[in-house]
Amino acid sequence: MQLGLYIHIPFCQQKCLYCDFPSYSHMESLYESYTNALCREIIGQGVLFSGHEVDTIYIGGGTPTLLPLPLLLQVITAVQTNFHVTPDAEVSMEANPGTVDGGILADLRAHGINRMSFGVQSFTDILLQEAGRIHSAEEGIAAVRAAQQAGFSNINIDLMYGLPLQTLKNFQDSLRQAVDLAVPHISVYGLKVEEGTPFAHRLAAERLLLPAEEEEEAMYEEAVRFLPQCGYKRYEISNYAAQGQLCRHNLKYWNYSSYLGLGAAAHSFLNRERLANTRDVRTYIEQINSGGSPVEYQEKPDVAEQMAEFCFLGLRTAAGISYEAFYQYFEKQFPQHFSRQVAELAAKKLIDVGKESVKLTPLGMKYGNLAFQAFLP
Ligand code: SF4
Repeated sequence: MQLGLYIHIPFCQQKCLYCDFPSYSHMESLYESYTNALCREIIGQGVLFSGHEVDTIYIGGGTPTLLPLPLLLQVITAVQTNFHVTPDAEVSMEANPGTVDGGILADLRAHGINRMSFGVQSFTDILLQEAGRIHSAEEGIAAVRAAQQAGFSNINIDLMYGLPLQTLKNFQDSLRQAVDLAVPHISVYGLKVEEGTPFAHRLAAERLLLPAEEEEEAMYEEAVRFLPQCGYKRYEISNYAAQGQLCRHNLKYWNYSSYLGLGAAAHSFLNRERLANTRDVRTYIEQINSGGSPVEYQEKPDVAEQMAEFCFLGLRTAAGISYEAFYQYFEKQFPQHFSRQVAELAAKKLIDVGKESVKLTPLGMKYGNLAFQAFLP
């Protein structure tokens, strides 16, 4: 079995005002002990998974590039030494503009990172400031160019729409700028105001100047229209790629493939079981150092839940749910097993039913949750 590895670096210089990811600022004093604990987990899991090949690695966060380079290289080396990484593996790293320069990027590339994903979010300074991002638009451009100069051809830019003060015009400018940078992959996410974040408090106090619903919808439509025109195929609800440049690691999530998560807050999906490590960085370090397990959640969904997960993850992709893949997994014929849901969703024009697969329509892509809910047990 080929395995994906996800490695979590839970540190950020400062929290973005919308972020509820497991990432923490002002933890510099733990960088070294966290790295050592992470490498210990890598070594231990490397033994347990010695029979597997690893064909994708994703080092995410947080902001991995906030770790001092020697620590980052220690993590990369530990993975390469302790897992059977295939020669053609996709090895991605997330980075925040403002935390990398040409020298760091060249070192990362020399140590086997072959895909960079930049959390740019927007190319409009005022929006970045309002969202609490640590970088400017210019630094976003500079980071991507530096990566290209360091020899990276496989680069992603993350963009957001629906940000406070954002207009359709400046979202269009950001899309255009991303395309002009000639990166092969662009991800586009709508802002969600998550509970407990500073944005949520501002929203409750009516101090968050979000775009009107119609304007936000126009931004979504613009991405859906503009990026394919520029040669980026929409292969997942939020992801667009030039020919052959799909993110192989993220496809594992949507294709219900196995992956092993390492580090605080990292999730795994193994043998149809879902596991999660503790989100607390200190607890994680203590657990590892005392020879214990950092796993704080473990559950095997029942078959009905597995089928639901399989369906709504698969439906996120342009390829949709393959009947053959569903059969391989569950030994059931998808069209018969879900005949009622398929008929309902097709009648609402949310899915296209084909001979070999079922896919979301453009309307279904827009209102994905309506389709996903239909498969819940
Ligand atoms: S850089 Fe990413 S992980 Fe860190 S606070 Fe901002 S959105 Fe969250």
